[in-house]
Formats: sequence, C-alpha cells, structure tokens
Amino acid sequence: MLKKLRQTAIHAANTPVFGSVLRTMEKVDVARAGDLAVVTYHRVDHADRTPLLYPGLISATPERFADQLDMLSSVGQVVSMQQVVAACRGEAELPRKAVLITFDDACRDFAEHAWPALQARRLPVTLFVPTAYPDQPQRQFWWDRLYVAIWHGRAARIHTAYGQWTLDSDEQRRRAYRALRDQVKQLPHEPAMQLVDEIVLQQQAPSPPASVLGWDELRELATQGVTLAPHTQTHPLLTQVSIDQARAEVVGSREDLQRELGGVLPVFAYPGGQCNAAVKEMLAEEGFELAFTVQRGINRISKTNRLALNRINVGQQTSVQILRAQLSVGWWGKRVAAG
Ligand SMILES: [Zn+2]
Repeated sequence: MLKKLRQTAIHAANTPVFGSVLRTMEKVDVARAGDLAVVTYHRVDHADRTPLLYPGLISATPERFADQLDMLSSVGQVVSMQQVVAACRGEAELPRKAVLITFDDACRDFAEHAWPALQARRLPVTLFVPTAYPDQPQRQFWWDRLYVAIWHGRAARIHTAYGQWTLDSDEQRRRAYRALRDQVKQLPHEPAMQLVDEIVLQQQAPSPPASVLGWDELRELATQGVTLAPHTQTHPLLTQVSIDQARAEVVGSREDLQRELGGVLPVFAYPGGQCNAAVKEMLAEEGFELAFTVQRGINRISKTNRLALNRINVGQQTSVQILRAQLSVGWWGKRVAAG
C-alpha cells in the first residue's frame, strides 16, 4: 500500500500539471532565513561501470547529478558547512532557501564524477569519510560484500540461522538481498558482520573492488575546497554497538582526519542515519556541534535538534522534479508549522 502511494506520488511529481503547481508555489516566497535543507548523496555513476558494487547506493547518474545541481542553485542558495556552523553558533545568518550538499562514504566516483560537476559550478560540498577505509582495499562495505555474494556467488541457495533463500532469478536475488540487508541492520554489529562473513564464505563470492578514495586523493580534494568530515572509522550503525564503541568510532574518525588533513569541523554524519539519545549525548560531550541523520525534512537549526539534523536523501528514483518538489514542499511545511 505504502509502496503504491509512493509510486503514485513519484509519478505525479513528474507530470506537467505538478510542474506548474510547483512553479506557483515557488513564486510565493515562503522560506524564512535560517531554514536549512540538506541533501545527501552516496554515489554518482552508471551502475554498469561497477558490477561488483551494490547499485542501490548510486544516487544519480553524472548527467542527472549535473541537472540536479543546476536546479539546486536556481531554486535555493547552496551554502558551505562553514556557513552552517557559523549560523549554528549565532555568528552569521544563513541565506533564505539555504541548501547544504553532502556526500556520505567518500566513494571513488565522487572524485571522478561529482566533484568536477560541483567545482565547475563553484558549489561547496561536504564529504563524510569512514576513516578506516582509505588505502585499505581489503576492507569493504558489508552491503557490497552481501550484494556480490547474492548476485555473483556460486551456490543457488543461501542458508542462515535467520532463514533460507533460493537464488534462481533476479527477483529471488532482490528478495534475498532485501531480507538479509534488513536482518543485518537489526542485529547488534558483531553478529551482523558475522552473518555477512558466513554468507560470503558459503557463496565463495569474488571480492568487491576498493570503493573508497585514498588519503592522497582526499587531501587533494581538501586542497581544492572539499570539506571533509568524520563518519566513524568502520561504519557500524551506532545504535547497534556499545556507547564506548560508538565513542571510539566517532572520536577515532575525527582524530584520523586531523592527523591526515589538519583541521576538521565539529560536524558528523551518523552511519545509516541511525542515532539515539545516548549517542547524541556522547557527541555533545565530545564537542560536536552538528550531526546529520537521514530523517527526511528541512531544518530550522535550534539548540535541541542540532545533533539530529534532517537530510533529504537522493536516490535513483529522485528525478530533478521530485527533488525540487521535496524542497518546495519542505519549505512550505516549515512555514505552515511556524504559523
Ligand atoms: Zn555511510
């Protein structure tokens, strides 16, 4: 039912009628200074170029990404993380319709496709780096390992303590991937990673290629103006590890960036967007000023929400029109809520 509604909404957002409604909404300038929209990307690439990486994390093709950037800078004002931190401290005001562009996971295609498009338009961007991955090709994200095991593994069946899946068709593989991904996210981190190891071993699957940029490349991007920020070291969901482990991951990733790059802003993105009260409290204790979830919505930065800021995630189904609609509807919603 929800899926159907979502598909209907996506279809409607792409129609000419909706486009004209949107233009009317945009003419009425509802956004207030201080409202911040944050967009999240993961990968910008064509899926067929990297068959051994999970294609679900491709946010856009390079062509669509360029169109989205043109739209973002025409309907909003793209701001830097430095501007957002200054606004949070009360040292400066954000412009109206401020948009912050963020990328999670520091994937290789950021340097190849995303950054040149951003740089050509002089748009600032923040890249959240899981700092145990650069220059460690033997370390791969669990979602890529699971994807390769299901799509390129040897056996036609997967047996686990949580169920069995047959892998005879693409539909069955999709179903198995979805079920196992959800299972991995629900488990505490350690048994979750053991489950992935077990499946990879059963399937004797090839290894995914190194997907994260190396430190030399990251330093070069920082020199060219990309803001790099911590995203833990090994990318566990922080709600699925002990608070001591969470602290070590968060502080460790900030120290790694300090060691490799020099200065780092007191900002953080939660892996998978997951946090809870204890994790937020720990971030505050460690001096973090802003932290980002993947909860959809526009933010009005206040003392209470600055460690759980909303972001609009961009995925393969997010056309330029849909993204534009999400921004406009978000700005209207904030205005209505403010009265
Ligand atoms: Zn991530």
